Amino acid sequence: MQSVGNWLKENVSQRSPAVKNTQNTQANAAKQQQRHHRHRHKPHHQGPANIPQGGGRLRIYPLGGFEQVGRNCMVIEVDQDIFLIDLGLQFPDEDMLGIDYLIPDITSLQGKENRIRGILFTHGHLDHVGAVQHLLPKLHYPPCYGTKLTLAFVRKRLEEEHIANKAQLHTVEYNRKITFGQNSAEFLHVTHSIPDAAAIALHTPYGTLLHTGDFKFDFTPTSGDMPADFQGLADLGRRGVLAIIADSTNATKSGSSKSEAEISETLHRLIRDANGRVIISTFSSLLNRIQQIVDHAKQYNRKVFIAGRSMETNIEIAQNLGYLKAPRGLIRKVGPGMDKIPDRETLIIATGSQGEEMAGLARIGLGTHRHISIKTGDTVILSSNPIIGNERSVAKVINNLHLQGAIVKTSQELSLHTTGHGCRDDILLMHRLVQPKHIIPEHGEPYMRAAHAQIARDLGYTDDHIHQLSNGDVLEFDAQGNARKSKQKISVNDVIIDGKGSAGEGKRIMDDRKIMSKNGMIIVLFRAYTDSKRLVGNPDILSRGLIYGSEQEKITSEVVEIAKKAYQECLDRGENDRNALKRAVNGALYRYFDRKLDRQPMLVPVIVEV
Ligand SMILES: [Zn+2]
Ligand SMILES: [Zn+2]
Repeated sequence: MQSVGNWLKENVSQRSPAVKNTQNTQANAAKQQQRHHRHRHKPHHQGPANIPQGGGRLRIYPLGGFEQVGRNCMVIEVDQDIFLIDLGLQFPDEDMLGIDYLIPDITSLQGKENRIRGILFTHGHLDHVGAVQHLLPKLHYPPCYGTKLTLAFVRKRLEEEHIANKAQLHTVEYNRKITFGQNSAEFLHVTHSIPDAAAIALHTPYGTLLHTGDFKFDFTPTSGDMPADFQGLADLGRRGVLAIIADSTNATKSGSSKSEAEISETLHRLIRDANGRVIISTFSSLLNRIQQIVDHAKQYNRKVFIAGRSMETNIEIAQNLGYLKAPRGLIRKVGPGMDKIPDRETLIIATGSQGEEMAGLARIGLGTHRHISIKTGDTVILSSNPIIGNERSVAKVINNLHLQGAIVKTSQELSLHTTGHGCRDDILLMHRLVQPKHIIPEHGEPYMRAAHAQIARDLGYTDDHIHQLSNGDVLEFDAQGNARKSKQKISVNDVIIDGKGSAGEGKRIMDDRKIMSKNGMIIVLFRAYTDSKRLVGNPDILSRGLIYGSEQEKITSEVVEIAKKAYQECLDRGENDRNALKRAVNGALYRYFDRKLDRQPMLVPVIVEV
């Protein structure tokens, strides 16, 4: 029954947005040549001095994040020690018919739980921490490491499942070494769209691996945030980095990603000049953007009202830890009291910048929001870009807002959004600073990682130093620091989370959904005595997308009779097991629909005991 609710439920996609850049920078051939030489002659890693006798090994394999944006999880095996970087979720694509989200498949780690030394988290976005509540118990709660805000988001996910007390959460400071026997880890600050983001260096006897996490180089980040740790990255490079595992999200985009400061300027101007209320819609994950908005609201004496649960949660976590700075009483929840504040002193931050039907902005546009309806003179600002596929829904919301009398500002006309991921020049700079021996493009669909590989080639890297992995591909390093893809491949399946806490084998659920969307569905609800399983009255029939109009009554009564008869006959044969009863009903109804309607609907018999 639960799956019906989810099937009918709308999805909300929150994948990070991307932005187009106008600049174009091409490295010229001579420079490439020069870099190539420097690259080849550089001592790249500390060497294999400490490798255990008898030969150990370093191998890495992604369990997610390499064929999609989302579901990030990288496994690093150093001899007997295992480290994981991130345990994220993936929001479903449109053809995934109403599932909640997908998580990494950790089957390959079963039986190895006691070798896991730590799970290291790069930052608090759901595509990096969103699967913890499902996977930490399965991994037997290994110690988790992350910066303060990142761990707050990990904790929040665990609290929702009431398992936070079982987890070992260790807050790390930037640049402070954490030792795990022969290995050690170090977190370096990088800029992204959320504070406290980190690149993680794992120092092993085979050399140093650097995982960039999500990053861009923002020289003028939000108030309170600092630029990336250029020095730390360069120092690592000087000491030698065996391999970098680096963000590819915007590798297809030329130039460098726009700074938050530019967005802040536009927002500042719009908020200053607005005569009525200001309503700003953005992603709840963009905490840096939200800080900008709060700063401007404060300057122009506007109270900030928050609409949307994910927005409320994220702001609360960040504010409690001091990552979102606002004077007491400035930020409030939307509610009946907000009408008392004059329009010129009101600013509303709402979710739903992707046109999601159930989110704040769409409901405001449709006039169905409980507390907010548009007044003439309201300024609505969409501080986001529509993700591919969402353009039509966003346009619908904008139309509705216009029709209600709002002035709508979007990133099409103004600089109202920037990405949290580095474009080509940011990626170039990262590699120049770190000077890794091997480059492993991560965090992206294949075409994004291919563009990243091309950037590496432009820097002079040869193909034996650029590694294009798919989920489950194993990259092995030998004692000389050479790397090659193993013939062995880890099996990685889609693991779907559908409804609260229930993880299912992906394919079966998706098949059910496909049958449902094509052929409709019939639920037959029997009431029966607990012991005897004898029926109490007629079963109820609920159908979706199958029976319409004049046929309805006739077919429903036939279905009732057939279902009852099959149930009864099964009981009469002495079989009163629930599954046997359901199977009998299923079989009879299947034959009926196949013959009568030439349809194969999804059949769901349910027995409620009274
Ligand atoms: Zn992120
Ligand atoms: Zn990410």
